[in-house]
Amino acid sequence: MLGKEIPVNTPQKKLWHIVIVLAVCMVVAVPSGANDAASGIVDSQTFLRRNSAPAGPPASASAAAVEKLLSQMTLKEKIGQMTQLEIGMVSDGQDQSIRINPEKLHKAVVEYGVGSLLNVKDEALSGERWHEIIRAIQEEAKKSRLQIPVLYGIDSIHGPTYIVGGTLFPQPLAMAATWNPELMLRGSQISAAETRKAGIPWSFSPVLDAGRQPLWARLWETFGEDTYLATVMGVATVRGYEGSDLSSPVNVSASLKHYVGYSYPTNGGDRSPALIPENTLREYFLPAFAAAVKAGAHTVMVNSSEVNGTPAHANGYLLKNVLRDELGLQGFVVSDWSDIKLLVSTHHVAATEKDATRIAVLAGIDMSMVPSDYSFSDLLFQLVQEGKVPTSRIDEAVRRILTVKYQLGLFDDPLRGIDSKTVIGSPESRQVSLEAARESITLLKNENHTLPLAKTAHVLVTGPDADSLIPLNNGWSYTWQGDRASMYPKDRATILKAIQEKIGASNVTYVPGTTYNKEVDTAKAAEAASKADAVVICLGEWAYAETPGNIPDLTLPDAQLLLALKIMETKKPVILVLTEGRPRIISRIADSAKGIVMAYNPSNEGGQAIADILFGDVNPSGKLPITYPRSTNRLFTYDHKMFSGGDGGEGKAMAAPQFEFGSGLSYTTYSYSDLHVATATGSQTVRVDVTVKNTGGRAGKEVVQLYLNERFASVTPPLKRLKRFAKVLLQPGESRQVSFELTSDDLSFIGADNRRVVEPGVFDVRVGGLQQTFEWK
Ligand code: BGC
Repeated sequence: MLGKEIPVNTPQKKLWHIVIVLAVCMVVAVPSGANDAASGIVDSQTFLRRNSAPAGPPASASAAAVEKLLSQMTLKEKIGQMTQLEIGMVSDGQDQSIRINPEKLHKAVVEYGVGSLLNVKDEALSGERWHEIIRAIQEEAKKSRLQIPVLYGIDSIHGPTYIVGGTLFPQPLAMAATWNPELMLRGSQISAAETRKAGIPWSFSPVLDAGRQPLWARLWETFGEDTYLATVMGVATVRGYEGSDLSSPVNVSASLKHYVGYSYPTNGGDRSPALIPENTLREYFLPAFAAAVKAGAHTVMVNSSEVNGTPAHANGYLLKNVLRDELGLQGFVVSDWSDIKLLVSTHHVAATEKDATRIAVLAGIDMSMVPSDYSFSDLLFQLVQEGKVPTSRIDEAVRRILTVKYQLGLFDDPLRGIDSKTVIGSPESRQVSLEAARESITLLKNENHTLPLAKTAHVLVTGPDADSLIPLNNGWSYTWQGDRASMYPKDRATILKAIQEKIGASNVTYVPGTTYNKEVDTAKAAEAASKADAVVICLGEWAYAETPGNIPDLTLPDAQLLLALKIMETKKPVILVLTEGRPRIISRIADSAKGIVMAYNPSNEGGQAIADILFGDVNPSGKLPITYPRSTNRLFTYDHKMFSGGDGGEGKAMAAPQFEFGSGLSYTTYSYSDLHVATATGSQTVRVDVTVKNTGGRAGKEVVQLYLNERFASVTPPLKRLKRFAKVLLQPGESRQVSFELTSDDLSFIGADNRRVVEPGVFDVRVGGLQQTFEWK
């Protein structure tokens, strides 16, 4: 299959193709900085430079109007603005039968003047249903004394989760695996436009929690374990959502979550305590939030759990000193679901909900996602009247909330977006999702070039994830848990259907083999395997979100491992396709598999994307955004520290993962040469040049990754850290020079005193197997 052209079927690819034709056979020096389709290179540094400017309008534009409004508001109206209720508080019924209840709506919006409502009951609704609901809410708001529009918020986690027919994208972990922030930007623009088209101007996304605990049930909502990759993808999401003008009918406000340390529960369980020393918090967990705040994100949602013994909702240091004073957040802070109550029932830092409310509001919570009663409003009202919460704190929170409402244009038009030209789920948007799925899928093993499979092969397809869209999507897909089959579109191919379409149904045998954790017909699958040329075993997880996704063991369930082992006895070439939200341990079957394809949760176009890669119509270019562990007791991130046994000895073997962070194979090969590192005297930057060449027979996209480490430092240095990357399209035989610039910030780390420091010393730069050393004086 080598030498086969990748089908050029998107406008973006066409442009790339034209440029490539001109460039073939020449050595082309393309310094980073040309991030666009025509250049065939997307580099992280240029991307950040171009996309870090906050969206307008600035807070100053509405400051006078906000102050005027604030001066007219009663205490109850102000506290109403700080209150967020779930949609059940203004409606009756469940799922599609949900109906606005006029009395409930009146109580919430007119009597209590609530500032915000959220989400669904518990199923996605059509655009039209959303219009009815949002219209009813905003019309009710017009009946209130000051006619302040309601801010509706929703979990558009991987596209518009809760809009029927909306374009869903690969889940964030998969998007990170593309290492292509331009795709993340484009997907986020589509997600924002479709969400706003429903009349909803606020998305509870992106998740900027560092995905460094593979057991955690929300790993797939993150951009993986690396701080820099997550930072780039986070900024891409904020820019895509908020654009350059927040009030535009295609933009929504982002909500960075869950600030901070939520993703690192010591016991691996959701909403569980974390112990993170402050220098570690600042080194690995805060930077993505810092960059996204700098890029203008208008809201932040808080970690439901605790770090170092202080619940995040009670942590004034993190919410005020760090988030406001250091990071510079201008917008407002919203609690997570019911979290003020949890200060009493889970965290035990307050004896009563009233005291919890005082603690949280004084710590810096501006809006409470209560969400199912009026306790917050009532208790906060009493607290202010008793002088336990100053009015100035209430004014501060309300000022921030009203400002965001102005910035979103809600005072001009509370229904903004409903009349936009955006088409929910257009073919063009689906194409972007397909492109993202193709670029995310990561080829982890390909012994003897077993892949791509010949289209003439007779293939057995088996495994629990072969014939369902559910594991392709995972949670936050039409419902919270994403597991309601009836909600999924009928016209998207599962992995099985996509393979049948690609090579003809008569060339495909399907035997389920097992469910997620229960044997069905393993013996039948093994028998069918013996008659096939190759076997595609689709393993992994089913759908889950948040706490229901907790597991006691990262190992893939026995039923799935046994299916693979049984089939492997036939000695037929086995390809494992993994659709999973976290790296389930596969060491018992990995060695005998000829090919391993990590598909993450690639969403509704993922079946097609997987088939495109299995049969060679697309050359894989995804790279792991996490370390894939080999065993449950050996959980390391790639940027771990050296430990006893040393780099070359026992220690290295102990830390050896199943697959490394940043790894991913291609159907072509690349070579690296001419790594040059230049530090000009007096300059504050280090220039790094490297040449990458496609030495194989077909076009491909390579992710050039630059890692840095300092040899000695006052705080033990990690083995290496990712500092830059670029995704580069290369035709067979084509070379490109890629250039990066490192600043002193890239050489810095958080010292023992929790402050960022650059220490003079010797640094190693590593790119594509090459290494150069420089000294920083
Ligand atoms: C989750 C948040 C989500 C919120 C609203 C919470 O349980 O932790 O991520 O935004 O619910 O749905």
